[in-house]
Amino acid sequence: MNNGQPHRNVRLAVRLRAQIVQELGGVCVRCGQDDPEELQLDHIRGRDWVLNRVSSDQRARRLRQEATEGKLQVLCAACNKAKQKEDRERLPEEAEA
Ligand SMILES: [Zn+2]
Repeated sequence: MNNGQPHRNVRLAVRLRAQIVQELGGVCVRCGQDDPEELQLDHIRGRDWVLNRVSSDQRARRLRQEATEGKLQVLCAACNKAKQKEDRERLPEEAEA
């Protein structure tokens, strides 16, 4: 059992996320929403790694790197949801079968 998950890492991750959001302009790229509470980091081409399989340290490094490489964009919660819906609808027909 591992109940010793340090809160420090969680806070660091939240702060890193907020920091990257600011670095990427601090507004939703679709609608211009600038309420930090609403803003999320979106993987432009989808995430190519499994969140649960990496430690929070690795995750933080990964996010940093992806931000540098331009793989992330800022979306608000509503636009993120809309994008996910569009992505699903854009899937080729055979994927639906
Ligand atoms: Zn938006």
